[in-house]
Amino acid sequence: MTESTYRIQGATGEWEVVIGLEVHAQVTSRAKLFSGAATAFGAEPNTQVSLIDAAMPGMLPVPNRECIRQAVRTGMAIDAQINRWSRFDRKNYFYADLPQGYQISQLYHPLVGEGAIEIALDEKDPEGSVKSIGVERIHVEQDAGKLMHDQHPTRSYVDLNRSGVALMEIVSRPDMRSPAEAGAYLRKLRAILRYVGSCDGNMEEGSMRADVNVSVRKVGDELGTRTETKNVNSVRFVMAAIEYEAKRQVSVLEDGGRIVQETRLFNVESGTTRSMRSKEDAHDYRYFPDPDLLPLELDEAFLEECRASLPELPDAKRKRYEGLGISAYAANVLTAEVEAARWFDALLETGAKPVPAANWVTSELFGALNRTGKGIENSPVSVDQAAELLALVADGTLSGSLAKQVFEVMLETGDGAARIVEERGLKQTSDTGAIEAVIAGVLEKNPNQLAQYRGGKEALFGFFVGQTMKAMGGKANPAVVNDLLKKALG
Ligand code: ADP
Ligand code: MG
Repeated sequence: MTESTYRIQGATGEWEVVIGLEVHAQVTSRAKLFSGAATAFGAEPNTQVSLIDAAMPGMLPVPNRECIRQAVRTGMAIDAQINRWSRFDRKNYFYADLPQGYQISQLYHPLVGEGAIEIALDEKDPEGSVKSIGVERIHVEQDAGKLMHDQHPTRSYVDLNRSGVALMEIVSRPDMRSPAEAGAYLRKLRAILRYVGSCDGNMEEGSMRADVNVSVRKVGDELGTRTETKNVNSVRFVMAAIEYEAKRQVSVLEDGGRIVQETRLFNVESGTTRSMRSKEDAHDYRYFPDPDLLPLELDEAFLEECRASLPELPDAKRKRYEGLGISAYAANVLTAEVEAARWFDALLETGAKPVPAANWVTSELFGALNRTGKGIENSPVSVDQAAELLALVADGTLSGSLAKQVFEVMLETGDGAARIVEERGLKQTSDTGAIEAVIAGVLEKNPNQLAQYRGGKEALFGFFVGQTMKAMGGKANPAVVNDLLKKALG
Protein backbone atom coordinates (compact mmCIF):
# COMPACT_ATOMS: atom_id res chain seq x y z
CA MET A 1 0.00 0.00 0.00
CA THR A 2 1.27 3.43 -0.93
CA GLU A 3 1.09 5.91 1.94
CA SER A 4 -0.85 8.97 0.87
CA THR A 5 1.31 12.01 1.40
CA TYR A 6 -1.22 14.80 1.11
CA ARG A 7 -0.30 17.28 3.86
CA ILE A 8 -1.06 20.91 4.55
CA GLN A 9 1.85 22.93 5.83
CA GLY A 10 1.02 25.35 8.65
CA ALA A 11 3.24 27.60 10.80
CA THR A 12 3.02 25.07 13.65
CA GLY A 13 3.68 21.98 11.53
CA GLU A 14 2.08 19.57 9.07
CA TRP A 15 -1.63 18.80 9.05
CA GLU A 16 -3.34 15.68 7.81
CA VAL A 17 -6.84 15.67 6.27
CA VAL A 18 -9.50 13.12 7.30
CA ILE A 19 -12.46 12.53 4.99
CA GLY A 20 -15.64 10.48 5.25
CA LEU A 21 -18.29 10.49 2.52
CA GLU A 22 -22.03 9.90 2.75
CA VAL A 23 -23.24 9.18 -0.76
CA HIS A 24 -26.91 9.32 -1.70
CA ALA A 25 -27.49 7.10 -4.69
CA GLN A 26 -30.88 6.97 -6.37
CA VAL A 27 -31.97 3.36 -6.75
CA THR A 28 -32.66 2.30 -10.33
CA SER A 29 -36.32 1.36 -10.17
CA ARG A 30 -39.33 2.33 -12.24
CA ALA A 31 -41.43 2.88 -9.11
CA LYS A 32 -40.80 4.72 -5.85
CA LEU A 33 -39.78 3.16 -2.53
CA PHE A 34 -43.29 2.97 -1.04
CA SER A 35 -45.60 3.79 -3.95
CA GLY A 36 -46.18 2.82 -7.56
CA ALA A 37 -45.54 6.33 -8.96
CA ALA A 38 -42.93 6.64 -11.74
CA THR A 39 -39.39 7.91 -11.18
CA ALA A 40 -38.32 9.05 -14.68
CA PHE A 41 -36.03 12.08 -14.74
CA GLY A 42 -37.17 15.34 -16.33
CA ALA A 43 -40.95 14.83 -16.21
CA GLU A 44 -43.32 17.81 -15.88
CA PRO A 45 -43.56 18.89 -12.21
CA ASN A 46 -46.05 16.93 -10.09
CA THR A 47 -46.93 14.39 -12.78
CA GLN A 48 -45.34 11.47 -10.90
CA VAL A 49 -46.95 11.78 -7.51
CA SER A 50 -49.19 9.20 -5.87
CA LEU A 51 -51.40 9.88 -2.87
CA ILE A 52 -48.70 8.28 -0.74
CA ASP A 53 -45.98 10.64 -2.04
CA ALA A 54 -48.27 13.61 -1.38
CA ALA A 55 -48.85 12.28 2.16
CA MET A 56 -52.63 12.18 1.96
CA PRO A 57 -54.05 11.14 5.33
CA GLY A 58 -54.66 7.44 5.74
CA MET A 59 -52.35 6.29 2.94
CA LEU A 60 -50.10 3.38 3.87
CA PRO A 61 -46.61 2.78 2.44
CA VAL A 62 -45.79 -0.61 0.91
CA PRO A 63 -42.08 -1.42 0.40
CA ASN A 64 -41.04 -1.92 -3.20
CA ARG A 65 -39.30 -5.28 -3.44
CA GLU A 66 -37.12 -4.17 -6.36
CA CYS A 67 -35.63 -1.25 -4.38
CA ILE A 68 -34.74 -3.55 -1.49
CA ARG A 69 -33.29 -6.06 -3.93
CA GLN A 70 -31.05 -3.43 -5.56
CA ALA A 71 -29.74 -2.23 -2.19
CA VAL A 72 -28.99 -5.82 -1.13
CA ARG A 73 -27.17 -6.50 -4.41
CA THR A 74 -25.13 -3.32 -3.88
CA GLY A 75 -24.20 -4.47 -0.39
CA MET A 76 -23.11 -7.84 -1.73
CA ALA A 77 -20.99 -6.12 -4.39
CA ILE A 78 -18.93 -4.41 -1.67
CA ASP A 79 -18.70 -7.59 0.42
CA ALA A 80 -20.87 -6.10 3.10
CA GLN A 81 -22.85 -7.79 5.79
CA ILE A 82 -26.48 -8.11 4.70
CA ASN A 83 -28.85 -7.79 7.63
CA ARG A 84 -31.66 -10.31 7.29
CA TRP A 85 -33.69 -8.25 9.71
CA SER A 86 -33.90 -4.50 9.30
CA ARG A 87 -36.41 -1.80 10.03
CA PHE A 88 -37.59 1.62 8.88
CA ASP A 89 -37.54 4.67 11.15
CA ARG A 90 -39.14 8.10 10.87
CA LYS A 91 -36.79 11.06 10.79
CA ASN A 92 -38.99 13.97 11.80
CA TYR A 93 -38.48 17.48 10.51
CA PHE A 94 -40.51 20.21 8.84
CA TYR A 95 -39.78 21.51 5.39
CA ALA A 96 -42.04 22.52 2.51
CA ASP A 97 -40.64 19.80 0.22
CA LEU A 98 -41.55 17.08 2.74
CA PRO A 99 -45.34 16.75 2.98
CA GLN A 100 -45.23 13.80 5.42
CA GLY A 101 -43.35 15.88 7.99
CA TYR A 102 -40.89 13.01 8.29
CA GLN A 103 -38.57 11.05 6.02
CA ILE A 104 -38.78 7.27 6.19
CA SER A 105 -35.19 6.13 6.65
CA GLN A 106 -33.22 3.52 8.59
CA LEU A 107 -31.21 4.61 11.60
CA TYR A 108 -31.06 1.79 14.13
CA HIS A 109 -31.17 -1.30 11.92
CA PRO A 110 -29.94 -0.60 8.38
CA LEU A 111 -30.39 -3.12 5.58
CA VAL A 112 -26.65 -3.37 4.91
CA GLY A 113 -23.83 -3.32 7.47
CA GLU A 114 -20.04 -3.21 7.29
CA GLY A 115 -18.34 -3.51 3.89
CA ALA A 116 -15.39 -2.06 1.99
CA ILE A 117 -14.39 -0.56 -1.33
CA GLU A 118 -10.86 -0.95 -2.67
CA ILE A 119 -9.33 1.99 -4.47
CA ALA A 120 -6.10 2.12 -6.49
CA LEU A 121 -3.89 5.08 -5.62
CA ASP A 122 -1.78 4.62 -8.75
CA GLU A 123 -3.66 3.66 -11.90
CA LYS A 124 -0.45 2.34 -13.47
CA ASP A 125 -0.15 -0.10 -10.57
CA PRO A 126 -3.75 -0.95 -9.57
CA GLU A 127 -2.66 -4.12 -7.73
CA GLY A 128 0.26 -2.68 -5.80
CA SER A 129 -1.32 0.58 -4.65
CA VAL A 130 -4.60 -0.69 -3.21
CA LYS A 131 -6.17 0.97 -0.20
CA SER A 132 -9.34 -0.37 1.38
CA ILE A 133 -11.93 2.24 2.39
CA GLY A 134 -14.42 1.01 4.98
CA VAL A 135 -18.13 1.36 4.38
CA GLU A 136 -20.01 1.59 7.65
CA ARG A 137 -23.50 0.89 6.32
CA ILE A 138 -25.96 1.27 3.47
CA HIS A 139 -29.48 2.18 4.42
CA VAL A 140 -32.55 2.77 2.29
CA GLU A 141 -34.60 5.95 2.54
CA GLN A 142 -37.01 8.26 0.72
CA ASP A 143 -35.98 11.31 -1.22
CA ALA A 144 -37.81 14.62 -0.63
CA GLY A 145 -39.48 16.87 -3.21
CA LYS A 146 -37.91 19.95 -4.75
CA LEU A 147 -38.68 23.60 -4.13
CA MET A 148 -38.69 25.89 -7.16
CA HIS A 149 -37.92 29.53 -6.43
CA ASP A 150 -37.41 30.76 -9.98
CA GLN A 151 -40.95 30.40 -11.37
CA HIS A 152 -42.53 33.54 -9.94
CA PRO A 153 -41.19 36.77 -8.40
CA THR A 154 -42.85 36.36 -5.01
CA ARG A 155 -43.89 32.72 -4.80
CA SER A 156 -42.15 29.39 -4.45
CA TYR A 157 -43.55 26.16 -5.81
CA VAL A 158 -42.96 22.58 -4.89
CA ASP A 159 -42.44 19.67 -7.29
CA LEU A 160 -43.14 16.32 -5.62
CA ASN A 161 -41.90 14.11 -8.47
CA ARG A 162 -38.86 13.12 -6.42
CA SER A 163 -40.85 12.76 -3.22
CA GLY A 164 -40.62 9.12 -2.16
CA VAL A 165 -37.99 8.07 -4.71
CA ALA A 166 -35.73 5.36 -3.22
CA LEU A 167 -32.22 6.33 -2.18
CA MET A 168 -29.38 4.27 -0.83
CA GLU A 169 -27.25 6.17 1.64
CA ILE A 170 -23.77 4.71 1.50
CA VAL A 171 -21.74 5.86 4.51
CA SER A 172 -17.98 5.50 4.43
CA ARG A 173 -15.63 5.32 7.39
CA PRO A 174 -13.38 8.37 7.83
CA ASP A 175 -10.65 6.46 5.97
CA MET A 176 -9.69 8.86 3.17
CA ARG A 177 -6.68 11.15 3.54
CA SER A 178 -6.61 13.33 0.42
CA PRO A 179 -8.87 14.82 -2.25
CA ALA A 180 -7.41 12.28 -4.70
CA GLU A 181 -8.42 9.35 -2.48
CA ALA A 182 -11.94 10.75 -2.16
CA GLY A 183 -12.08 11.12 -5.96
CA ALA A 184 -10.87 7.55 -6.47
CA TYR A 185 -13.44 6.28 -3.94
CA LEU A 186 -16.32 8.07 -5.66
CA ARG A 187 -15.27 6.87 -9.10
CA LYS A 188 -14.94 3.30 -7.87
CA LEU A 189 -18.26 3.41 -6.02
CA ARG A 190 -19.93 4.85 -9.12
CA ALA A 191 -18.41 2.10 -11.29
CA ILE A 192 -19.64 -0.61 -8.91
CA LEU A 193 -23.17 0.86 -8.80
CA ARG A 194 -23.27 0.99 -12.59
CA TYR A 195 -21.93 -2.55 -13.02
CA VAL A 196 -24.51 -3.81 -10.52
CA GLY A 197 -27.21 -1.70 -12.17
CA SER A 198 -28.53 -0.41 -8.85
CA CYS A 199 -27.95 3.28 -9.68
CA ASP A 200 -27.15 5.01 -12.96
CA GLY A 201 -24.47 7.12 -11.21
CA ASN A 202 -25.49 10.22 -13.13
CA MET A 203 -24.21 13.02 -10.92
CA GLU A 204 -25.42 15.81 -13.24
CA GLU A 205 -29.02 14.61 -12.91
CA GLY A 206 -28.59 14.25 -9.18
CA SER A 207 -28.75 10.43 -9.11
CA MET A 208 -25.60 10.47 -7.00
CA ARG A 209 -24.68 13.22 -4.51
CA ALA A 210 -22.18 13.30 -1.72
CA ASP A 211 -22.13 14.84 1.73
CA VAL A 212 -18.47 15.55 2.37
CA ASN A 213 -17.21 15.26 5.96
CA VAL A 214 -13.80 16.84 6.52
CA SER A 215 -11.59 17.36 9.55
CA VAL A 216 -7.90 18.04 10.00
CA ARG A 217 -5.38 16.96 12.64
CA LYS A 218 -1.69 16.84 13.28
CA VAL A 219 -0.36 13.46 12.13
CA GLY A 220 -0.85 10.94 14.94
CA ASP A 221 -3.41 13.05 16.86
CA GLU A 222 -7.02 12.04 17.61
CA LEU A 223 -9.70 12.82 15.01
CA GLY A 224 -10.52 16.51 14.83
CA THR A 225 -13.97 18.12 14.73
CA ARG A 226 -15.53 17.78 11.29
CA THR A 227 -17.73 19.87 9.08
CA GLU A 228 -20.19 18.38 6.60
CA THR A 229 -20.56 19.98 3.18
CA LYS A 230 -23.93 18.93 1.77
CA ASN A 231 -25.07 17.67 -1.62
CA VAL A 232 -21.97 18.05 -3.74
CA ASN A 233 -22.77 16.75 -7.20
CA SER A 234 -19.57 16.00 -9.08
CA VAL A 235 -16.30 14.23 -8.33
CA ARG A 236 -14.37 17.37 -9.20
CA PHE A 237 -16.48 19.50 -6.84
CA VAL A 238 -16.05 16.99 -4.02
CA MET A 239 -12.28 17.20 -4.43
CA ALA A 240 -12.39 21.01 -4.59
CA ALA A 241 -14.63 21.22 -1.52
CA ILE A 242 -12.20 19.04 0.47
CA GLU A 243 -9.21 21.07 -0.63
CA TYR A 244 -10.86 24.36 0.32
CA GLU A 245 -12.36 23.11 3.56
CA ALA A 246 -9.14 21.48 4.78
CA LYS A 247 -7.14 24.67 4.18
CA ARG A 248 -9.81 26.77 5.84
CA GLN A 249 -9.80 24.56 8.93
CA VAL A 250 -6.01 24.62 9.14
CA SER A 251 -5.93 28.39 9.04
CA VAL A 252 -8.66 28.67 11.70
CA LEU A 253 -6.73 26.29 13.98
CA GLU A 254 -3.37 27.90 13.27
CA ASP A 255 -4.92 31.23 14.30
CA GLY A 256 -5.87 29.72 17.63
CA GLY A 257 -9.55 29.27 16.75
CA ARG A 258 -11.61 26.09 16.91
CA ILE A 259 -13.71 24.24 14.35
CA VAL A 260 -17.46 24.25 14.92
CA GLN A 261 -19.29 21.10 13.91
CA GLU A 262 -21.61 22.46 11.26
CA THR A 263 -23.28 21.91 7.93
CA ARG A 264 -21.79 23.83 5.02
CA LEU A 265 -22.63 24.53 1.39
CA PHE A 266 -20.26 24.35 -1.57
CA ASN A 267 -20.30 27.23 -4.04
CA VAL A 268 -19.60 25.91 -7.52
CA GLU A 269 -18.54 29.28 -8.94
CA SER A 270 -16.02 30.28 -6.28
CA GLY A 271 -14.93 26.77 -5.20
CA THR A 272 -15.49 27.77 -1.56
CA THR A 273 -17.74 26.49 1.23
CA ARG A 274 -19.85 28.57 3.60
CA SER A 275 -21.70 27.84 6.80
CA MET A 276 -25.36 26.89 6.39
CA ARG A 277 -26.44 25.85 9.87
CA SER A 278 -24.99 24.33 13.01
CA LYS A 279 -25.04 20.57 12.85
CA GLU A 280 -28.07 18.78 14.22
CA ASP A 281 -27.69 15.52 16.10
CA ALA A 282 -29.73 12.37 15.62
CA HIS A 283 -31.84 13.17 18.71
CA ASP A 284 -32.96 16.46 17.11
CA TYR A 285 -34.94 14.38 14.63
CA ARG A 286 -36.87 12.36 17.19
CA TYR A 287 -36.25 9.16 15.27
CA PHE A 288 -38.64 6.30 16.04
CA PRO A 289 -39.62 3.06 14.29
CA ASP A 290 -42.25 3.69 11.61
CA PRO A 291 -45.47 2.09 12.90
CA ASP A 292 -46.86 1.84 9.35
CA LEU A 293 -44.18 -0.59 8.25
CA LEU A 294 -43.29 -4.11 9.36
CA PRO A 295 -39.60 -4.95 9.77
CA LEU A 296 -37.97 -6.30 6.61
CA GLU A 297 -37.12 -9.97 6.86
CA LEU A 298 -35.10 -11.43 4.01
CA ASP A 299 -35.23 -15.14 3.32
CA GLU A 300 -32.46 -17.31 1.93
CA ALA A 301 -34.07 -17.69 -1.51
CA PHE A 302 -34.24 -13.90 -1.93
CA LEU A 303 -30.59 -13.50 -0.91
CA GLU A 304 -29.59 -16.34 -3.21
CA GLU A 305 -31.34 -14.69 -6.16
CA CYS A 306 -29.62 -11.37 -5.36
CA ARG A 307 -26.23 -13.06 -5.23
CA ALA A 308 -26.76 -15.07 -8.40
CA SER A 309 -27.78 -11.98 -10.35
CA LEU A 310 -24.55 -10.07 -9.64
CA PRO A 311 -22.40 -9.49 -12.73
CA GLU A 312 -18.62 -9.77 -12.89
CA LEU A 313 -17.45 -6.68 -10.95
CA PRO A 314 -14.68 -4.23 -11.94
CA ASP A 315 -11.84 -5.76 -9.90
CA ALA A 316 -12.62 -9.31 -10.97
CA LYS A 317 -12.86 -8.26 -14.59
CA ARG A 318 -9.59 -6.34 -14.37
CA LYS A 319 -7.84 -9.40 -12.94
CA ARG A 320 -9.33 -11.60 -15.67
CA TYR A 321 -8.04 -9.22 -18.35
CA GLU A 322 -4.60 -9.20 -16.75
CA GLY A 323 -4.69 -13.00 -16.82
CA LEU A 324 -5.11 -12.75 -20.61
CA GLY A 325 -1.80 -10.88 -20.78
CA ILE A 326 -3.27 -7.38 -20.93
CA SER A 327 -1.20 -4.77 -19.05
CA ALA A 328 -2.40 -3.71 -15.62
CA TYR A 329 -2.84 -0.17 -16.87
CA ALA A 330 -4.93 -1.10 -19.91
CA ALA A 331 -7.00 -3.58 -17.86
CA ASN A 332 -7.70 -0.81 -15.37
CA VAL A 333 -8.74 1.65 -18.07
CA LEU A 334 -10.92 -0.93 -19.82
CA THR A 335 -12.84 -1.84 -16.67
CA ALA A 336 -13.30 1.64 -15.18
CA GLU A 337 -16.56 2.22 -17.06
CA VAL A 338 -19.13 -0.51 -17.47
CA GLU A 339 -19.95 0.43 -21.09
CA ALA A 340 -16.32 0.17 -22.15
CA ALA A 341 -15.95 -3.15 -20.35
CA ARG A 342 -19.05 -4.55 -22.04
CA TRP A 343 -17.85 -3.34 -25.42
CA PHE A 344 -14.45 -4.92 -24.89
CA ASP A 345 -15.99 -8.20 -23.71
CA ALA A 346 -18.05 -8.27 -26.91
CA LEU A 347 -14.88 -7.67 -28.93
CA LEU A 348 -13.14 -10.58 -27.19
CA GLU A 349 -16.14 -12.77 -27.99
CA THR A 350 -15.51 -12.23 -31.72
CA GLY A 351 -12.21 -14.06 -31.24
CA ALA A 352 -10.01 -10.94 -31.28
CA LYS A 353 -6.63 -11.48 -29.64
CA PRO A 354 -6.77 -9.87 -26.17
CA VAL A 355 -3.45 -7.99 -26.10
CA PRO A 356 -3.57 -6.26 -29.51
CA ALA A 357 -7.30 -5.66 -29.03
CA ALA A 358 -6.70 -3.98 -25.64
CA ASN A 359 -3.91 -1.83 -27.06
CA TRP A 360 -6.01 -0.81 -30.02
CA VAL A 361 -9.11 0.02 -27.95
CA THR A 362 -7.24 2.01 -25.28
CA SER A 363 -5.12 3.99 -27.74
CA GLU A 364 -6.81 4.23 -31.16
CA LEU A 365 -10.49 3.89 -30.30
CA PHE A 366 -10.41 5.85 -27.02
CA GLY A 367 -8.29 8.50 -28.79
CA ALA A 368 -10.91 8.86 -31.52
CA LEU A 369 -13.75 8.98 -28.98
CA ASN A 370 -11.92 11.67 -26.99
CA ARG A 371 -11.36 13.76 -30.10
CA THR A 372 -15.05 13.63 -30.97
CA GLY A 373 -16.32 13.87 -27.39
CA LYS A 374 -18.31 10.65 -27.75
CA GLY A 375 -18.88 7.87 -25.26
CA ILE A 376 -18.22 4.28 -26.30
CA GLU A 377 -21.99 3.61 -26.34
CA ASN A 378 -22.05 5.96 -29.37
CA SER A 379 -18.88 4.61 -30.91
CA PRO A 380 -18.69 5.39 -34.64
CA VAL A 381 -17.13 1.93 -35.11
CA SER A 382 -19.08 -1.17 -34.13
CA VAL A 383 -17.62 -4.17 -32.33
CA ASP A 384 -17.79 -6.21 -35.55
CA GLN A 385 -16.05 -3.50 -37.56
CA ALA A 386 -13.27 -3.33 -34.96
CA ALA A 387 -12.96 -7.12 -35.05
CA GLU A 388 -12.58 -7.03 -38.84
CA LEU A 389 -9.80 -4.43 -38.62
CA LEU A 390 -7.95 -6.35 -35.89
CA ALA A 391 -8.22 -9.59 -37.89
CA LEU A 392 -6.49 -7.89 -40.83
CA VAL A 393 -3.64 -6.90 -38.51
CA ALA A 394 -3.48 -10.40 -37.02
CA ASP A 395 -3.20 -12.12 -40.43
CA GLY A 396 -0.48 -9.73 -41.62
CA THR A 397 -2.57 -7.90 -44.21
CA LEU A 398 -2.09 -4.65 -42.30
CA SER A 399 0.88 -3.29 -40.37
CA GLY A 400 0.29 -1.11 -37.34
CA SER A 401 0.71 2.08 -39.31
CA LEU A 402 -1.53 0.91 -42.16
CA ALA A 403 -4.15 -0.09 -39.60
CA LYS A 404 -4.10 3.49 -38.33
CA GLN A 405 -4.69 4.81 -41.85
CA VAL A 406 -7.50 2.34 -42.44
CA PHE A 407 -9.09 3.27 -39.11
CA GLU A 408 -9.05 6.96 -40.09
CA VAL A 409 -10.94 6.10 -43.27
CA MET A 410 -13.37 3.92 -41.30
CA LEU A 411 -14.14 6.91 -39.08
CA GLU A 412 -14.66 9.18 -42.09
CA THR A 413 -16.71 6.87 -44.28
CA GLY A 414 -18.19 4.25 -41.96
CA ASP A 415 -16.94 1.58 -44.39
CA GLY A 416 -15.53 -1.78 -43.29
CA ALA A 417 -11.77 -2.34 -43.06
CA ALA A 418 -11.54 -5.08 -45.73
CA ARG A 419 -13.38 -2.95 -48.24
CA ILE A 420 -11.13 0.05 -47.55
CA VAL A 421 -7.99 -2.08 -47.93
CA GLU A 422 -9.34 -3.41 -51.23
CA GLU A 423 -10.46 -0.06 -52.65
CA ARG A 424 -7.44 1.97 -51.62
CA GLY A 425 -4.77 -0.68 -52.08
CA LEU A 426 -3.60 -0.30 -48.49
CA LYS A 427 -2.41 -3.90 -48.19
CA GLN A 428 0.94 -4.51 -46.56
CA THR A 429 3.49 -6.17 -48.81
CA SER A 430 6.03 -8.84 -47.92
CA ASP A 431 7.34 -9.05 -51.49
CA THR A 432 11.07 -9.47 -50.81
CA GLY A 433 12.14 -8.59 -54.36
CA ALA A 434 10.34 -5.26 -54.26
CA ILE A 435 11.58 -4.43 -50.77
CA GLU A 436 15.18 -5.34 -51.64
CA ALA A 437 15.06 -3.04 -54.64
CA VAL A 438 13.86 -0.16 -52.48
CA ILE A 439 16.54 -0.87 -49.86
CA ALA A 440 19.24 -0.77 -52.51
CA GLY A 441 17.99 2.66 -53.59
CA VAL A 442 17.93 3.93 -49.99
CA LEU A 443 21.52 2.84 -49.33
CA GLU A 444 22.66 4.43 -52.57
CA LYS A 445 21.00 7.76 -51.68
CA ASN A 446 22.52 7.90 -48.21
CA PRO A 447 26.25 7.09 -48.55
CA ASN A 448 27.24 9.16 -45.46
CA GLN A 449 24.86 7.38 -43.13
CA LEU A 450 25.93 4.07 -44.65
CA ALA A 451 29.59 4.79 -43.94
CA GLN A 452 28.78 5.89 -40.38
CA TYR A 453 26.71 2.76 -39.77
CA ARG A 454 29.45 0.51 -41.04
CA GLY A 455 31.89 2.51 -38.89
CA GLY A 456 29.95 1.31 -35.81
CA LYS A 457 27.08 3.80 -35.38
CA GLU A 458 24.42 1.11 -35.13
CA ALA A 459 21.73 3.49 -33.94
CA LEU A 460 21.35 4.47 -37.60
CA PHE A 461 19.57 1.18 -38.27
CA GLY A 462 16.27 2.86 -37.40
CA PHE A 463 17.00 5.61 -39.90
CA PHE A 464 17.28 3.04 -42.74
CA VAL A 465 14.07 1.33 -41.61
CA GLY A 466 12.30 4.69 -41.65
CA GLN A 467 13.61 5.61 -45.11
CA THR A 468 12.60 2.24 -46.54
CA MET A 469 9.11 2.40 -45.04
CA LYS A 470 8.69 5.93 -46.34
CA ALA A 471 9.81 4.97 -49.84
CA MET A 472 7.23 2.17 -49.78
CA GLY A 473 4.39 4.40 -48.62
CA GLY A 474 4.19 2.63 -45.27
CA LYS A 475 3.05 -0.57 -46.97
CA ALA A 476 6.09 -2.79 -46.40
CA ASN A 477 5.88 -5.49 -43.76
CA PRO A 478 8.15 -4.07 -41.02
CA ALA A 479 9.47 -7.48 -39.97
CA VAL A 480 10.53 -8.27 -43.54
CA VAL A 481 12.12 -4.83 -43.91
CA ASN A 482 14.12 -5.46 -40.74
CA ASP A 483 15.40 -8.82 -41.95
CA LEU A 484 16.33 -7.61 -45.40
CA LEU A 485 18.02 -4.46 -44.08
CA LYS A 486 20.15 -6.50 -41.70
CA LYS A 487 21.30 -8.60 -44.63
CA ALA A 488 21.95 -5.60 -46.89
CA LEU A 489 23.91 -3.75 -44.22
CA GLY A 490 25.98 -6.84 -43.50
P1 ADP B 1 -23.95 11.80 11.05
O1 ADP B 1 -24.87 10.67 10.70
O2 ADP B 1 -24.38 12.61 12.19
O3 ADP B 1 -23.61 12.65 9.87
P2 ADP B 1 -21.80 9.81 11.42
O4 ADP B 1 -21.04 9.51 12.66
O5 ADP B 1 -22.70 8.75 10.91
O6 ADP B 1 -22.57 11.18 11.61
O7 ADP B 1 -20.73 10.14 10.31
C1 ADP B 1 -21.08 10.63 9.10
C2 ADP B 1 -19.85 10.66 8.21
O8 ADP B 1 -18.83 11.46 8.78
C3 ADP B 1 -19.22 9.31 7.96
O9 ADP B 1 -18.96 9.20 6.58
C4 ADP B 1 -17.94 9.36 8.74
O10 ADP B 1 -16.92 8.63 8.10
C5 ADP B 1 -17.59 10.82 8.74
N1 ADP B 1 -16.79 11.26 9.87
C6 ADP B 1 -17.01 10.98 11.16
N2 ADP B 1 -16.08 11.59 11.94
C7 ADP B 1 -15.25 12.27 11.11
C8 ADP B 1 -14.10 13.11 11.29
N3 ADP B 1 -13.62 13.38 12.50
N4 ADP B 1 -13.53 13.65 10.20
C9 ADP B 1 -14.00 13.40 8.98
N5 ADP B 1 -15.07 12.63 8.74
C10 ADP B 1 -15.70 12.07 9.78
MG1 MG C 1 -24.67 12.95 7.93
